[in-house]
Amino acid sequence: MAELRIEGLTAEVAGREILHGIDLVVGSGEVHAVMGPNGSGKSTLSHVLMGKPGYTVTGGSVTLDGVDLLALPTWQRAQAGLFLAMQYPVEVPGVSLEDLLTEALAGAGRDVSLVHTAVADEAERIGLATRLLDRPVNVDLSGGEKKRNETMQLAVLRPRFAILDELDSGLDVDALRSCARRIEAATTEFDLGVLAITHYTRLLDELKPDVVHILVKGRIVESGGPEMADALETTGYAAWVTEDEPAAAAEADPFADPFA
Ligand code: ADP
Ligand code: MG
Repeated sequence: MAELRIEGLTAEVAGREILHGIDLVVGSGEVHAVMGPNGSGKSTLSHVLMGKPGYTVTGGSVTLDGVDLLALPTWQRAQAGLFLAMQYPVEVPGVSLEDLLTEALAGAGRDVSLVHTAVADEAERIGLATRLLDRPVNVDLSGGEKKRNETMQLAVLRPRFAILDELDSGLDVDALRSCARRIEAATTEFDLGVLAITHYTRLLDELKPDVVHILVKGRIVESGGPEMADALETTGYAAWVTEDEPAAAAEADPFADPFA
């Protein structure tokens, strides 16, 4: 069984410490949900794990089966088995989806002969229209199509651990269900370990968490079973957020439905 281990992780962005000591251990096949109000550091955690420039680790460690991920550039973290589905997937003009996946697999010394078939199969499974597969990566896709596309890439690449940064933002209910189901299936199909970062509990209706962590102001303030996510649905984050600094004011969800 593989293990993604985060210990005492502190990190700063633009000279300000955002993560104040994160401890998390995710095993193969496990789903850990990290939930928290806007601005609590959820995306920062995902960026730091994947090695996005501009995010400086100031302490602690992150290892994948004992390999020091923080010492590696992003592409080697990916080759070590880490995958990030970004909150805001980037468009990559000029790069075809199949070329991207082929190069990623080849770079890790894996079989590329079945990429074309795997893309078609997974796209169908996730409900991503075939006509979208010929476009450059994420170019001119809607918010929901980009998230399906990220999920499809995950399914083809079969990483050991996936970080999902608000996979649910920008997705309608049907798309959310098919993406969440695909990832839930991956936890048994190829023993995928998941760090599911989310603001809302709706993602967790299909993607069943083993552990739920509450992240507030760069700290995990509580960890518990899936029932904690249900409780959040009714109580919100009020119990963990002090009144002097309402965390929800930090950042509005740009994908939020204004009519919801
Ligand atoms: P969440 O994903 O939980 O909403 P973020 O990790 O995006 O929170 O942000 C946490 C804090 O870090 C916020 O105060 C945000 O403004 C700040 N922050 C994140 N990324 C940057 C950045 N690239 N430059 C400056 N500040 C940042
Ligand atoms: Mg975020």
